[in-house]
Amino acid sequence: MGEEFNRRKFVKAAAAAAGSALLAGCGSGGSGGGGGAPGVITGKKYEWNMVTTWPPHFPVIGEAADKLAQWVDQMSGGRLKIKVYGGGELVPPLEAFDNVRQGTVEMGHGAAYYWAGKVPAAQFFAAVPFGMNAQGMNAWLYGGGGLELWQEVYGQFGLVPMPAGNSGVQMGGWFNKEINSAQDLKGLKMRIPGLGGKVIAKAGGAAILSPGSEIYTNLERGVIDATEWIGPHHDLLMGFHKIAKYYYTPGWHEPGTVIEMFINKAKWESLEPDLQEIVRAAAYRSNLWMLSQFEALNNDALQKLIGEHKVQLRRFPDDVLATLRKYTDEVLQELIEKDATSKKVYEHFDAFRKKVGAWANHSEAAYHSLVAPSK
Ligand code: CA
Repeated sequence: MGEEFNRRKFVKAAAAAAGSALLAGCGSGGSGGGGGAPGVITGKKYEWNMVTTWPPHFPVIGEAADKLAQWVDQMSGGRLKIKVYGGGELVPPLEAFDNVRQGTVEMGHGAAYYWAGKVPAAQFFAAVPFGMNAQGMNAWLYGGGGLELWQEVYGQFGLVPMPAGNSGVQMGGWFNKEINSAQDLKGLKMRIPGLGGKVIAKAGGAAILSPGSEIYTNLERGVIDATEWIGPHHDLLMGFHKIAKYYYTPGWHEPGTVIEMFINKAKWESLEPDLQEIVRAAAYRSNLWMLSQFEALNNDALQKLIGEHKVQLRRFPDDVLATLRKYTDEVLQELIEKDATSKKVYEHFDAFRKKVGAWANHSEAAYHSLVAPSK
């Protein structure tokens, strides 16, 4: 596949790009200057609503939605104002997709696996068990053609998707008993959504879906035996350490969950190009902001859980992870046999995962094993 690097062509292209950047700079230097160019600022003001699948101002994830709206407001000089609603404030959380699709609301903020019932292939744009981490997902979406595929899939529903955040590698969850072998998963009632839930079901467990607000009481009352949530920062806020003893790693089922923003396509196309760029820029910033928050906060919370709250940190045994991986392959196989779009997206995803994984062996993994603290 080796593409010859043509230095001369590159230098020429770079010079041309610099020239046009300079021209663009001159053209837009004075605000309110002469019009006529395509995408000229009209001064038209937009007031949009964004519905989210999160509780209002939900730490980190909901905050990112609030910030995104604030950044768009600032960058556009108030031309595009976005009012953010928590799940249930304007529409129920899991009706965000349909409301944006129908245009009753301009934008939504959620995670693509929530729409698996309508769009099975959407799951690949959120989290795949044993799939890619945040760095891999960003590489696939921004650099590997993944976003174009996502646009194609959501385009059929009249939506424009954008990555707008990432949780990083999640934790494996909270358990009241140790998981020493795959046998211990049999009969286990676990709150775990998406493809991961299907894997637990294959392992002989029961995947229970509880909304975030009900997980704590369900675990406390024994309606469920175990739950996954996000990672130490969020899990500490949820208080799971008060009712579960064992905290398992790694989050095999959500190795780098993408948080999405989606926009009604007709509304998107009604925006001037500069406002579209502002929205894109805010989504990029939000993606990086969210992942950076989680990465910055998680270890402090984990140490608090272990040190102050005496939580027992455990790693799933290798044979348990191998079993879960085997069932994951079966779950994915069944999904792609039933749905042609899922097959197309999965094949693209999987080829990229292999490619980025091969490189990671020589880069991230090699470096991490060199410098990682032992604990
Ligand atoms: Ca989770």
